[in-house]
Amino acid sequence: MSTLRFKMVETAFGKKPSDVKIPEGRPSEYFAMYVFNREKMFKYLSPDVYAKLINVIDTGSTLDRNIADQVAAGMKRWAVEMGVTHYTHWFAPLTEGTAEKHDSFIEHDGKGGVIEEFSGKLLVQQEPDASSFPNGGIRNTFEARGYSAWDPSSPAFIVDDTLCIPTIFIAYTGESLDYKAPLLKALRAVDKAAVDVCRYFNPDVKKVFAYLGWEQEYFLVDEGLYAARPDLLLTGRTLMGHDSAKNQQLEDHYFGAIPTRVAAFMKELEIEALKLGIPVKTRHNEVAPNQFELAPVYEECNLANDHNMLIMSLMRKIARNHGFRVLLHEKPFKGVNGSGKHNNWSLGTDTGLALMSPGKDFTSNLRFVTFVVNTLMAVYRHNGLLKASIASASNAHRLGANEAPPAIISSFLGSQLSAVLKHIKESEPESFQSLSGKTGMKLDIPQIPEILVDNTDRNRTSPFAFTGNRFEFRAVGSEANCASAMIVLNSAVAEQLTEFKAAVDGRIANGEEKDAAILSVIREYIKICEPIHFDGNGYSDEWKEEAARRGLDCETSVPLIYDNYLKEDSIRMFESTGVMNRKELEARNEVKWETYTKKIQIEARVLGDLALNHIVPVATKYQSALIDNVYKMHEIFPADKADRLTVRNVELIEAIATHTAFIKGHVDSMVEARKVANRIADEREKAIAYHDTVYPALEEIRYHIDKLELIVDDQMWTLPKYRELLFIR
Ligand code: ADP
Ligand code: MG
Repeated sequence: MSTLRFKMVETAFGKKPSDVKIPEGRPSEYFAMYVFNREKMFKYLSPDVYAKLINVIDTGSTLDRNIADQVAAGMKRWAVEMGVTHYTHWFAPLTEGTAEKHDSFIEHDGKGGVIEEFSGKLLVQQEPDASSFPNGGIRNTFEARGYSAWDPSSPAFIVDDTLCIPTIFIAYTGESLDYKAPLLKALRAVDKAAVDVCRYFNPDVKKVFAYLGWEQEYFLVDEGLYAARPDLLLTGRTLMGHDSAKNQQLEDHYFGAIPTRVAAFMKELEIEALKLGIPVKTRHNEVAPNQFELAPVYEECNLANDHNMLIMSLMRKIARNHGFRVLLHEKPFKGVNGSGKHNNWSLGTDTGLALMSPGKDFTSNLRFVTFVVNTLMAVYRHNGLLKASIASASNAHRLGANEAPPAIISSFLGSQLSAVLKHIKESEPESFQSLSGKTGMKLDIPQIPEILVDNTDRNRTSPFAFTGNRFEFRAVGSEANCASAMIVLNSAVAEQLTEFKAAVDGRIANGEEKDAAILSVIREYIKICEPIHFDGNGYSDEWKEEAARRGLDCETSVPLIYDNYLKEDSIRMFESTGVMNRKELEARNEVKWETYTKKIQIEARVLGDLALNHIVPVATKYQSALIDNVYKMHEIFPADKADRLTVRNVELIEAIATHTAFIKGHVDSMVEARKVANRIADEREKAIAYHDTVYPALEEIRYHIDKLELIVDDQMWTLPKYRELLFIR
């Protein structure tokens, strides 16, 4: 290893878990200490204001201005007591991160001094100067105004000296410019549709919640090494790097002992997460070296999503305290597993029913089957759209590779649930009718065990797997905002449940008994959505062929996958559920295509620079040393002996010449391809050009660089190699 690279490793500090300051008391005592939760609301608000705010939170009704002032005052009192000086509206624009603009509480007091002020107006609504957030043309310069508005269903929290207020971000003309606004609409839609269906079984249900439990995967690398890799720094992934002789072949990292420095990082992260009310529970090593996973206990979907956004920024911050950088990119290293973010999703009622869990009696099992089958129908009808919801330039490296969900959405059910559905499908509709009525218990539905344990449940190749009491959407990228997937899933299920209700009501109106009507519709659905059900190996080539025969979306080009958002079926689904309209969908797609283009564009620039400024000069320098050696060998040995002794070096000289020539040639043609693509005005066409003509050059260039890495003297190679980046000491 070059001394330069060696020094970089030395800069990392060696913190131990015992170096992390543990707060006083047990986790249950400091949990949510930085959150303005119900307990603090109760303490800092008058009983009347508290009751009204809770009502707003629970029912989603609007907050009256007068109340807002009093809530703001209480919130400020709490925050100031906690040492807070600033506040910010915290929102998720159409980038991957969150945005915030901090203002202090300070206002003139009219007597030459200042006082801390925070009015209801400032709490409820603000106008961030946000004309440079992506908006897909919705906010042209004439209407370049958007505002952020408080989401009372997600509690305010404190980070450092700042009170953060979760908000939605919308244009003055009403269109959503963020992820939260459509997510809240999707959750409202699924709530309403699911409550209506629930009432067939349990008339007292008033609200249905969507739950989300995310599992966040990530890599850690030493800060010094990270800083010496411009590609990691600028693109989040390594654009070059030969496999380390050892990477994950031995699978010795998975669930292995956590290195001390990493354990110290995790410990601090967990403490800070708990203080912010994030119920983190699980931590372990992942499959790849330096790869780890963190998961909380599941929560209501909107809150869980905010918590995921928050934890990603918390991770970035805390990693620095330990001499690490956290990599949230889906594929930081070639040849090593990438990172995803499983989204565990289910529905549950205000009365405590888990709608994706089988129960003890006929009614609860019929309800269970109803919700599972409607979910499958939604996933089937919108499988291309669901894929679009998780597609990105970075996640494209994972999808379809033999390590992650394939680029085709299908659903794994396991043998027990499959058997139940098969039984219903094959039973005679007449039996539903004749067996129902007073003796409804005898309806022809097989016994479903209360807990569906299936030994094939660990089918990791399925992108949308049923896992006993929930579905696990595994194709979500590690860097993504989960809301993108959750918007599509929840609104598609809402649409589906609404249609189901209409179909069942139609049958009831025609004189069918309720349970029989439900079973008849379910039976039809099971047949229709059969193509989405696949329990086999999702990585196999046979599946790709089979999926195409079944009519599932098999597109792999990300810019084309985004077309799914603008299909008439999708627009109808989003509009009928009130989640997004055509104009919003069109604008958001512009943003998606533009983002895709920019990502590839940056990668192409960075790789071009590195190739010409780092790799080629170093390779040429080593080549010159070899040439020098060959000449000198000929000076001291007779010609034929010198020839024999320098054969290998001459081969290397030639190999270096060939690889550097290819690199230069490919960089030139990549620059040319970029120029051509940049002249395209249409964002979709441009993204397609980047996908088809620029991206392939990245792979070509990398191939030759990785070959050179094996040839060139290790002392000379300036960039840290995989074996250095991937193994934390
Ligand atoms: P895995 O075995 O898939 O790693 P974990 O035990 O790590 O599973 O849990 C994954 C996530 O799923 C956790 O966040 C957990 O709280 C969540 N989860 C469990 N049950 C449900 C459910 N019914 N609905 C939504 N999420 C759930
Ligand atoms: Mg899981």
